[in-house]
Amino acid sequence: MEPSQKLSWESADRAFKRIRPKKVLLQLPSGLKRKGLLFADEIRRRYGCEVILSGDSCYGACDILPPPIEVDAIVQLGHAPMRLRKGVVPIIFVPMLIDLELDRLIATALPQLKSPVGVIATAQHIHQIKDAVRILQASGFKALIGKGSSRLSSPGQILGCDYSSATEIASRVNSFLLLGGGEFHALGASLTTGKTVISLDPERRDATVRKVDQDAFLRRRFAIIQALAEAKTIGIIVSSKLGQKRLRLAEELLRSARNENKKAELVLIDDITLAKLQELGFDAYVSTACPRLTLDDGASLGRPVGTPGELMIALGKMHWDDYAMYHWGFTTRRIRRRK
Ligand code: SF4
Repeated sequence: MEPSQKLSWESADRAFKRIRPKKVLLQLPSGLKRKGLLFADEIRRRYGCEVILSGDSCYGACDILPPPIEVDAIVQLGHAPMRLRKGVVPIIFVPMLIDLELDRLIATALPQLKSPVGVIATAQHIHQIKDAVRILQASGFKALIGKGSSRLSSPGQILGCDYSSATEIASRVNSFLLLGGGEFHALGASLTTGKTVISLDPERRDATVRKVDQDAFLRRRFAIIQALAEAKTIGIIVSSKLGQKRLRLAEELLRSARNENKKAELVLIDDITLAKLQELGFDAYVSTACPRLTLDDGASLGRPVGTPGELMIALGKMHWDDYAMYHWGFTTRRIRRRK
C-alpha cells in the first residue's frame, strides 16, 4: 500500500495572512518539481498571489538563496520549518507529512528494541512521534524523546546535519526507533550515538535494523583524510545558501590549513558539483555546507571533499578516535588536542 502523503497548510495560512505577499518564489524539492504547475495553481487559488517557480535545487529547509528577483516571500514546499538566522525575505514553509502505519510497523520492531527506547523522526514523520511513544509505552517499553537544538522544528526531529535530539538522550537509552526511511539518517544516528537504530521505512512492510557498516564508512573517510593530508592546495567551501552558510567556521579552517603550510582559499558556491570542483582545480576540498553531499554522495564529486572535522584530523589537530559525523554543533574551538 502506498504511504499516505499530505501537505500541511495550517502554518502557511497564518503566514500568508500576516505577510500578505503579492508575489512569491516557490521552491520545490526534486521529488515534487514535476508537480510545480499543480502547486503554483493551488497557491494562487488559496492566496491570490503571483507565483514564480524556482528551477534550482532545494534539498532541505536550509536551502534558501537570496532571490535574484523581487518577491515578497519565498514559499518552500515539502520541508519542516527551520529557524534561519538571516533571511532577506520572509520564508513560508509548507511541510509534507507522510503517515506510517505505526501499529503494524512498531509491532515488527518490538523484538529488536531494547528498553528504554529513544524515539527520533525525520521531518516527514515528526507529526507521529508522540503516537509512536504511546504505542511503545502500551507495549511495556520506556520511551524518551530528546529536545534537540533550535535548528529543529520539533523535539525528536533529526536532520542529516543535526542529531542533537538523539545524542542528548543517548546515555539514557539502549536503542533508537527512527521514524524515517533510507540509510543516511540511520547511519548518522548510529554513528553519533553508538546505539542500534531500528528504522520504520514507509516503503517497507517491516521495521529494519540498520546494521551500519561503520568500518566501511570510516575506511572511505580515512581515504579522504589522507588525500587532505597530502593535498598542497585546498578549497574551503562556504555555501551561499542561508541555512548552510558557515563563514566563521570556514575562516577558522582556512587559518588552520595555512598555518600547516597548505595553499588554501575560501570558495563561495551554491550547489557543489563535479564540474565546478574540476574547473576550480584544487587538489582537495573541505565543505562547511550540507554534510550529506560530502558523506553520502562524495564519490560523484570527482575530487576528495572532506568535512571540517576530517580536515582537522588531516592537519593533526584532532585525533582519529574523535571522528564524528559533521554536524551543526561543530566548531574548531571545541577540538581537544590529544597528541
Ligand atoms: S542535512 Fe543538509 S539539506 Fe538537510 S537540513 Fe542539514 S544542511 Fe540542509
